[in-house]
Amino acid sequence: MLEAVLDVVFPQCCIACEAWLPSRPPGCFCRSCDERIVSVRPPFCPRCGRPYLHEWQGDHLCGGCLLRPPPFSMARSWACYPRSSEALHPLRQVIHRFKYSRQASLGQPLGQLLAQRCQRWFRPSSLDLIIPVPLHPRRLRWRGFNQSVLLGREAGRAWGIPLDPLVLTRKTETVPQSTLSLKDRQPNVRGAFSIAPGRTVENLRLLLVDDIYTSGATVNECARALLHRGAREVQVLTLARAVS
Ligand SMILES: [Zn+2]
Ligand SMILES: [Zn+2]
Repeated sequence: MLEAVLDVVFPQCCIACEAWLPSRPPGCFCRSCDERIVSVRPPFCPRCGRPYLHEWQGDHLCGGCLLRPPPFSMARSWACYPRSSEALHPLRQVIHRFKYSRQASLGQPLGQLLAQRCQRWFRPSSLDLIIPVPLHPRRLRWRGFNQSVLLGREAGRAWGIPLDPLVLTRKTETVPQSTLSLKDRQPNVRGAFSIAPGRTVENLRLLLVDDIYTSGATVNECARALLHRGAREVQVLTLARAVS
């Protein structure tokens, strides 16, 4: 009875379309939104996690990783993130509300989904520390929170890995990557990250967390800075992977 009353007073809604969810726990997508979200699954590039369209292709390194191997050892994402043509895609809607309408409360359900759906790709016992991709202080002031910290915190809780949001810093304010073409993204973030004074990552196996993997430029640059300062390995976890 109490549950029925609570459902009326605080109805559980889909985090994307806000449809009423009579029989689902809070912080979920409704069935129809869930069905429209495509998980990233094999076949894909074993290094950067780029998914391939056809099953017959099998797992193989993509052209980008063959030509210029990324500094991280593995990147995985939960779901495919369609480019702008599908503005009403549930994952686009919810990430947009999370980041640009500054709804920090979405961090917990999205982080929990991320941890659940990506657990099979990682071995938590072989990771020492989670490092969220940092925001420039000015951007952090505007948003009020770092979305990668909220996502990484849930993954850390679920997998038993500590998180340190203060190790990596963003020393230059860059133009938002989402406003740039793919080829302009790497130069935009070059040299933008550094290790905070007094901190060390020496010999640590790190999991770098971000919201969206598009060109990989941001996580490449973060991984480079961490490895340059002695990290043993960097793996990457993102909520979404941009696909054409
Ligand atoms: Zn929905
Ligand atoms: Zn690749």
